Amino acid sequence: MDPVIRIENISYAYPDAERPALDGVSLDILPGTFTAVLGSNGSGKSTLAKHLNAILTPAAGRVLVDGLDTADEQNLLPIRRRVGMVFQNPDNQIVANVVEDDVAFAPENLGVEPGEIRRRVDNALRQVGMYDFRLHAPHLLSGGQKQRVAIAGVLAMDPAVLVLDEPTAMLDPRGRREVVAAVEQLCRERGITVVLITHHMDEAVRADRIVVMDRGRIALEGAPRDIFSQGQALRALGLDVPDTAALIARLNAAGLDIDPGALTPEACAAAIKEALG
Ligand code: ADP
Ligand code: MG
Repeated sequence: MDPVIRIENISYAYPDAERPALDGVSLDILPGTFTAVLGSNGSGKSTLAKHLNAILTPAAGRVLVDGLDTADEQNLLPIRRRVGMVFQNPDNQIVANVVEDDVAFAPENLGVEPGEIRRRVDNALRQVGMYDFRLHAPHLLSGGQKQRVAIAGVLAMDPAVLVLDEPTAMLDPRGRREVVAAVEQLCRERGITVVLITHHMDEAVRADRIVVMDRGRIALEGAPRDIFSQGQALRALGLDVPDTAALIARLNAAGLDIDPGALTPEACAAAIKEALG
């Protein structure tokens, strides 16, 4: 299968920076997959995210979105339509005083016709579980609700790829769960390609693939079961393992035989139950 985004050996340095923020990164994002990007502060995650929809373009190497080179200005609009971005602070992403107007904002600017906008807005709000709030004022919503409205605003552009840069960093645990559940559902049920940057290992266990950044490079890459069995390597990179991985390691050290890939709480509980017979 052709990747929806192909990153070919890209490097990028901010003006006056001592070292490059990205230093030879290559990565293929396959359509319909869920990729989680981890890494300590300053490892280059946000800089990488901004290369996925041409907010930044590489100093060396190239990024292709559906084969379109992000360095070619003529590709800017088609790339922005294909790759939607959600950022950390939901308050900075809300532009209207009514939820449905906020979600309609981007397609209106794209010149989508009104009937189609109505359909897209309703669909997008349903997909993130916010349809019942369509006439509410966004600033009165919880953080998790606001962030889901922001996601709906991106979905209304009908993107193939959703890139989320620490969308749960400012949310309480409940808001985090709501947002991650919505994102996971968009990938699994709607086939949207997801790239989720996060500090939370428990969010990353839901991904198909994990990419760990360190000082502008990819330090580790693989399936959650392979990445999260490398506790030592992760700690050396300033990260931890998910609670479930730590629990499974302890139980297995104590003589149980639990699948180290059972990393979501649901899978972990089922695997423990089975091991205890
Ligand atoms: P992360 O998202 O993983 O925390 P970033 O991509 O934001 O990492 O940053 C990578 C590196 O680039 C860091 O060293 C950071 O200080 C630097 N950096 C990020 N944004 C800027 C900027 N606007 N100007 C200069 N340096 C920056
Ligand atoms: Mg960042």
